[in-house]
Amino acid sequence: MEQNIGPVAGPAGLYVHIPFCLGKCSYCAFVSWPCRRPPAGYPAALLSQARQLAALPWSRQRCFTTIFIGGGTPTMYPAAVLNELLAELRQLFAISPAAEISLEANPDTLRPELLAELRRGGFNRISLGVQSFTDELLQKIGRRHDAVGARQAVAWARQAGFANLNLDLIYGLPGQSRRQWAADLAVALELAPEHLAIYQLTPEEETPLGRAVAAGELVLPDQDLCAEFEQDARRSLLTAGYEHYEVANYCRPGYACRHNLNYWHNGSYLGLGAAAVSCLAGLRLMNVASPGRYRRLLAAGRAPYAEAEALGLAASFRETVIMGLRLRRGLRLAELEQRFALTPRHYYGTILDELIAQGLLVMDHERIALSERGFALANQVLHRLV
Ligand code: SF4
Repeated sequence: MEQNIGPVAGPAGLYVHIPFCLGKCSYCAFVSWPCRRPPAGYPAALLSQARQLAALPWSRQRCFTTIFIGGGTPTMYPAAVLNELLAELRQLFAISPAAEISLEANPDTLRPELLAELRRGGFNRISLGVQSFTDELLQKIGRRHDAVGARQAVAWARQAGFANLNLDLIYGLPGQSRRQWAADLAVALELAPEHLAIYQLTPEEETPLGRAVAAGELVLPDQDLCAEFEQDARRSLLTAGYEHYEVANYCRPGYACRHNLNYWHNGSYLGLGAAAVSCLAGLRLMNVASPGRYRRLLAAGRAPYAEAEALGLAASFRETVIMGLRLRRGLRLAELEQRFALTPRHYYGTILDELIAQGLLVMDHERIALSERGFALANQVLHRLV
């Protein structure tokens, strides 16, 4: 079954999905379920799957260098539950002593004591879903916190000792102006996070926001204005000393998200939880999306997978190129060739030459990367390499 793709042994990441939220934001198309209290039995199911995966020879050969507990809103669970989960994972897997251990959180679920306990429990990075510091816009997208709450959450996280903090921001919100976006960026900079993830709002058609946009009840900024938002963010953050290291991600030097870097390198990872995905030994395994079904399968001693896909060499190569080009530094050609015995020139042929001639890609004897212009148009360029 095991195919010869990727390193025989080496580092890997561990992702834990907690798919519960206090409410559903109007733009959200993620796997998340609104509830007042998350199910008490879910963490035990996560550990059952962790035990199944930890028993694989593949896992026993790995050192896990990052853990990311995301959602959803993991901080709906008490700190004691999350700390216990982390402690159990440390027992089951070889976790590097210097591992980056991230927790995703929404400001409306945070309190100073919770954050202090999580920090003591070993979490060393926190990612806050702030999205905007403009109350009117937060309300329009159904967020449950306001700007004061977001600032407060950052202050509490700092007091608790989180020295590695990410803020998620979204632009292209309904009716958003450049002035409002400039104000959001100014507040974000004032809070001095080590990392910022900046996304454009996508109106997914199955969401209330997507339906309101389709019905003309909400108007989103057009693509030209969104391009200006993107440029405004880039200018402000570069001026403030951040590195634009990935299409949608900025960091202070040395604070790139190591967990996500593993995804962009198309590395190996295990995913625990409803809808989580694992990628190991040339296989992609997707867990069932329903948390109830996930728990039932594990309680019955069964594997919780909805799908298993064997990744062919060509598909893995293509994914590695597309993910790697999202990084500002691009990919090292020697590493690609060593891993796949393929080169971008052989695989893409004339498409590659066209993109280089159009000034969207650059390639020398060492690396392939998006050009400055290609980086600004990343989604269109990468689409041509799919
Ligand atoms: S907090 Fe995040 S995961 Fe939860 S509903 Fe809102 S956008 Fe979706």
